[in-house]
Amino acid sequence: MVNTEMSVWSPMEDENEGQWLEQVRTTLDRPWTAGNLNDFNLCPRKLLLSLFSQSRQRRALGASQALQGAVRAALVAADQQGGVGEWSLEKLRDEFLHRFDKAACADSLEEEQTERLGINMLARFQAEQRGRTAELLAVDERYEAIFEGLHFAAVADRVERDADGKLVVARYDVTSKPPGPERLKKEFSMGLLIAIVAATRDEIPSGRIYALRPGKVYDVTLDEAELVVVRGRAIMAARLIQADTDFGARAGDGCRWCRVRSSCTAWQSRRRSLLDAGGA
Ligand code: SF4
Repeated sequence: MVNTEMSVWSPMEDENEGQWLEQVRTTLDRPWTAGNLNDFNLCPRKLLLSLFSQSRQRRALGASQALQGAVRAALVAADQQGGVGEWSLEKLRDEFLHRFDKAACADSLEEEQTERLGINMLARFQAEQRGRTAELLAVDERYEAIFEGLHFAAVADRVERDADGKLVVARYDVTSKPPGPERLKKEFSMGLLIAIVAATRDEIPSGRIYALRPGKVYDVTLDEAELVVVRGRAIMAARLIQADTDFGARAGDGCRWCRVRSSCTAWQSRRRSLLDAGGA
C-alpha cells in the first residue's frame, strides 16, 4: 500500500512486528470488526499492532476507557444473572470496582473521580431499568456474517425486544459526548452491527445507545438502502486489508492519540525526530 499524504515507515525494526505481520497474512479470512476496519483506514500499522499488542494498549487508553470497560462489564455480569434491576446497588458497585483498572488513572484523584462517576451512572441506570418492560433476549452477544465472501463480526451489549415488538441491539456508552441520533445514523460501528444482525435474522433491528453519563437513550433505524452502503464500506475496507502486503505505518498527527503508539517503531522514530528538532 502506498501512502502519499504522510510519512511512510516501511522497515520492520521490531522483530515482533515481523512475526505479527506474518500472522496477519495467514489469517486474512478472519472476521473483521468495525474497530479493525477503522484502525486500518487510519493507519494499516495500527491495525497490525492493535491485534497483537493488547496489554500495552490498555494502559495507553487511560481512565475513560477503563471506565467504559468496567461499567460495561458490571452491567453485562448483572444482566447475565437475572438483570440489572435484580441486583442490589451494592453488588453492582462492588462488581464495577472489582473490574475497574485503577492503573489506567494518572493519579489517585483521577481514580476517585472516575470511580464515583461510574457508580453514579450505574445507580441511575439501575433505577431506570426497574421501570422498563423490554424483554432481554441476549447479553454480550457476538454476531458474524459473510458479505461477498468476507467475514465480519460485531458484538451487542444487549439484545432486547421492546414493548412494541421491535428487536433492538444496544450498547453502553459512558462518554461525555455520546453519539446522538444524527451521529448514530452515520456511525459505522453501529451500522455494521445492525447490518450483521439483519443478515442473520429475518428482521432489521434498531440500534440503541444507552448514554449513561447524560442518562439518555438514543435509537437509530437504518433501511435496506442504508445497509447496502454500510456493507459496501465494510467490504471495501476488508478488501484493502487483504490486498495490503506490509501494513505500513502512516505516521501523522493521529499518532499522538494512537493507543498502540508505545509499540510502534515508526512513532518512536518520529518522536525522536520531533525531540531532536525541539518540538513536543
Ligand atoms: S503511532 Fe502512528 S504510525 Fe504508529 S500505529 Fe499508531 S497511527 Fe500508525
